Formats: sequence, C-alpha cells, structure tokens
Amino acid sequence: RAEEDDEEEDVVVPGLPPVLRGHRDVHLRRGVMKAAELATENEPDAEKAFYVADLSYVYQQHLRWKKNLPEIEPFYAVKCNPDPYVLRLLAALGTGFDCASNGEINQVLSLGVDPSRLIFANPCKATSFIRQSAKAGVDKMTFDNTDELYKIARVHPGAKLVVRILTDDSKSLCRLGLKFGAPLVTVPALLAKAKELNLDVIGVSFHVGSGCFDSNAFADAVMRARAAFDMGKDAGYNFTLLDVGGGFEDPTFEATASVLKNALEEFFPARENLRIIAEPGRYYVAKAFSLAANVIARRAPPNSTEAAWSQETDTDSEHPTVMYYINDGVYGAFNCILFDHQTPQPYVLSLNGSFHVPSTVPLRASSVWGPTCDSIDCVCSVTQLPSTLQVGDWLAFDNMGAYTVCAASQFNGFQVSKVTYTTGGEHGKEVREVLRSFVA
Ligand code: PLP
Repeated sequence: RAEEDDEEEDVVVPGLPPVLRGHRDVHLRRGVMKAAELATENEPDAEKAFYVADLSYVYQQHLRWKKNLPEIEPFYAVKCNPDPYVLRLLAALGTGFDCASNGEINQVLSLGVDPSRLIFANPCKATSFIRQSAKAGVDKMTFDNTDELYKIARVHPGAKLVVRILTDDSKSLCRLGLKFGAPLVTVPALLAKAKELNLDVIGVSFHVGSGCFDSNAFADAVMRARAAFDMGKDAGYNFTLLDVGGGFEDPTFEATASVLKNALEEFFPARENLRIIAEPGRYYVAKAFSLAANVIARRAPPNSTEAAWSQETDTDSEHPTVMYYINDGVYGAFNCILFDHQTPQPYVLSLNGSFHVPSTVPLRASSVWGPTCDSIDCVCSVTQLPSTLQVGDWLAFDNMGAYTVCAASQFNGFQVSKVTYTTGGEHGKEVREVLRSFVA
C-alpha cells in the first residue's frame, strides 16, 4: 500500500490547492515547519494558522452512512462546510445537497450536479430566491407557513413542496425549532391552502436540532411525520418523500441509525413508494478538519502579578495563571464556540520548537485567547497546558470541520485560515481516484 501510494501523484484541480498524500499529522507538522522556514525568510504573516482537511475521513463517513442507513439518501447540508473539495467529493459519490440560499445552489450546480439532486431546505425564502431556483430547475423546497405558499404559487408554481414540521429538539445543542417547523396542529390548514393554490406537496421534513445526542428524538419525529402523512392523505395528497433532516452526531451515529430504522419499520411499514432522504452536515465533516494555531503572545492575567505568573506550575484548574494568545479566534474558526455551542480543546503540536512533547512536562492552568482586540475572543477559559509553552509554539484542535470556516469573519483584519488538503486516512487511494474521475 505504502509503495503504491508513493507512486501516486497529488490530485491537482485548476484553481484549487492540491490534494496531498500523507497522514493529517504529517501535514500539521509540515505546516509548522513551513512556517518556521517562512519566518527565517522574513515573510509577513509567516506563522499564520491553518487547517488540515483529511478528505478520506469524509469518504469513510459516507461508507459508514451507506452501511448503517442504506435506505436513506444523504443530501449533504452545504451550510455546514461548503468547502470546494468536500462538495466535489460528495458530488462524485452521488449524494444530494441541502441548500439554504441561491449562493449555495449556484455553488453546487456549478459542479455539474443535476438540479434534481438538490433540495432548497429553507422554509422561509426571499421571493427572488424562489424565482431563481425555478429558473435553475431546483424544484424540491420546504415550507412551514402560509405566506411561503403564496410566494411559491406566484413565482414557482411547479415546485415540489415538502412541509417542514416541528419536532422535539429540546435536547439538541442548536434548537432549530425556535425558528422553523410547523406545529402539527397547523399542518391541515397549511395543506388545505396548498391545495387551494394548486401546489404539489410531495412530503414531510423535520430537523431534530443540530447536535442531537438523543437518538430517541428521531423516533418521536418519525411518529409525528407519520401523522403529517395522514394529514396529507386527508387533504387529497399522496406523499412520497420523507426527509429526516440533519442532527446526526459521530459518536451516537450507529445508535441513531438503529432507532431511525426501527421507527421507520413501526410507522412506515409499507414504504415501497416512499423515498427517504436526510440532510446530514456535521456528521460528514466535523472530524475531517483539524486546525493548527501559533502562540503569538503570552502574559499574566490582569489579576495576577508577573511574579506569580513566572511560577512554573499551577494546576489550580479554576484559576489560570497564564494567558496564551493564538492567531485564530472566535471571529474566525472558533466562531463555533459562539454560534455552535462547541468547546474546542487544544493539544500541543510543538513545544519549545520541538515536536517532541515529553509526557513528564508539568502542566498549569492556562487560558487561550484569539488574536483580536475584543475580550469576547476567548477560545478556552481554562485548560491544562505545559508550563513551558511559549511564544512561537503551536497548538492544534481536532474536530474543526463543522460550522467553522464557513462562518469565519475577517474582523480586525485577520484573514480566514487556509486549508491544506490530504487523503491520508484509510481510503486515501480510492478518494484520490474518485476526485480524479470527477469532471465539474
Ligand atoms: N438541514 C437544515 C434545514 C439545517 O438547518 C441544518 C443545520 O442547521 C442541517 C440540515 C444540518 O444539520 P447537522 O449539521 O446537524 O446535520
């Protein structure tokens, strides 16, 4: 395998950075070494933070999906990470795409994906966006209110509509039900209005909330969807599509898949004519991306003295005795702390210029901050880091692929961290073949 890989070329797509070979850790280290090289050449911004994306992880998640949920077609939620290579890979693998805006629709269609593989899964759309999707041939779209039906009837009367119902998201990290989803009691009236407007409603969708660790939420949602299907029948429709949304979490995926399959068996026992799709986002990409960030500054906390700070160790976990400043923060990659309720944890990538981090090095309670001049820019209010960690060292964070780079800003003039791509995981060779065979 290793020899075969050595003979392979990197994947080069015009206009995009190359997809390299080699393990993600190797590329994290290479990035650090490259930064040191650039620094000696006096390059501005030499030590900038960077992501390493392992596309073979995305591929592996796809295989895992097919194995556990063969009956459910994934429509990747583009919003989660519209990375060009992630989209290319998934397009080549034949997934569908959940788009929330014209921008996302255009990005996916520009890859040559057929519009029938898209769902415009935003229940509250601008009229111009609906008109545009009609022009682009994107017919499947969700709604959860009457005004949406009027808009669609006016500018996209041929649309294939999916009623988004409200489900219990009380145990999820991001409660989308606060903003979207028709309560079941309102569904009969909505469907009656759709019928009156001569609109074609083809099915039901839900979203149990993003970051759903309670698999039973899916069973409850499928039960509600069954009720909505029956309401459809009463309104004169024959629904053929069930969209079980997103919310799938990596650690609970198998358990969720099992709950979902049992619920489908119970509530949709005869489903020869039922198409079932899902809108996973986080599941595909969260673990595929890691971020490396440089320690650009270090100081004592405001309530402590330099003398206290210079003590080598203090593992009082409540009170950090040192503050580290890194070159990506909550206005960049770590916006996931504010918007996505995440708590990223750093590990040491290089210590005192070496990749060797002795396990015996004493730790001390530390806080980690982003580079901007805003005090909300705190990445980690307390964590244990080596007492000898200093300016120039590197920290890394795993699990940085979902709702990170897509929502990063350039506040204070800091650039969004760039991505280095690799296929270093188990299925590297296959992934490179898939990417090479893909023609946009
Ligand atoms: N579908 C819709 C309509 C969403 O709003 C979201 C996330 O906000 C997703 C799918 C993706 O959810 P997740 O990343 O939790 O799978």
